[in-house]
Amino acid sequence: MTRIEFLGTGTSHGIPVIGCSCPVCMSADPHDKRWRSSILITKDDTAVVIDTGYEFRLQALRAGITHLDGVLYTHQHSDHMMGLDDLRVFTDEHKLPVYGFPKVLADAERIFPYAFHDMPYKGVPRLEKHELKEHETFSIGSLSFTAIPVMHGCMRIAGYRFGRAAYITDASDILMEENAGYLRGVDTLIIGALRDKPHWSHFTFAQALEAGRAIGARSVYFTHMSHATLHAEAERRFSPEAHPAYDTLVLEVEDE
Ligand SMILES: [Zn+2]
Ligand SMILES: [Zn+2]
Ligand SMILES: [Zn+2]
Repeated sequence: MTRIEFLGTGTSHGIPVIGCSCPVCMSADPHDKRWRSSILITKDDTAVVIDTGYEFRLQALRAGITHLDGVLYTHQHSDHMMGLDDLRVFTDEHKLPVYGFPKVLADAERIFPYAFHDMPYKGVPRLEKHELKEHETFSIGSLSFTAIPVMHGCMRIAGYRFGRAAYITDASDILMEENAGYLRGVDTLIIGALRDKPHWSHFTFAQALEAGRAIGARSVYFTHMSHATLHAEAERRFSPEAHPAYDTLVLEVEDE
């Protein structure tokens, strides 16, 4: 079994949005607190996170992460990357491998140059870049991943398949003509769904559901949600076909 823990399920602002007094931002339901989107995947002794946004430190503490074997990046937007510096604690003994498409890792290196070069100054993260090609399959410990290219507005970013699950956030097109073969057999789909109102670079709930049907996923979980929708309302509207994920939700998925 592979365990997935949602570290964050919010869009770039995080929910509540600073200064906002809408019903979702004011909600007392803990399911309506959405930190920046990220998941922790564990199998046997292997632990991997996808993306490290602003709350990575808080997320790692809440989830009790004590070691990491790798970090996968979907893309270089700041809500997915700016917690990178806090990977430092996981690199005392050895360099931590980070994976992503070349442009994403180049941006990570531009923003955090000290994390990618041997520095005389101690006390910096020590990361090792692993550039991925589209559709490349690679292993980290007991986990195996395939990088799935998807469109995020005009950007080609990475989704990741692992076993019978896939994590695709910030997508506006899952490019089924290119990806059908790589997504066949995905039972659990975690997919970004911003809100109901159309957005040029993110799926709406309806579009995310459509993507789930195209893939043939049996369980669909929405992530990267905005402050337009209460968790309870989304659960009522979309269950049982799909569910809004929430921070700290844990899924156990079958291996292939
Ligand atoms: Zn995002
Ligand atoms: Zn709000
Ligand atoms: Zn983005």
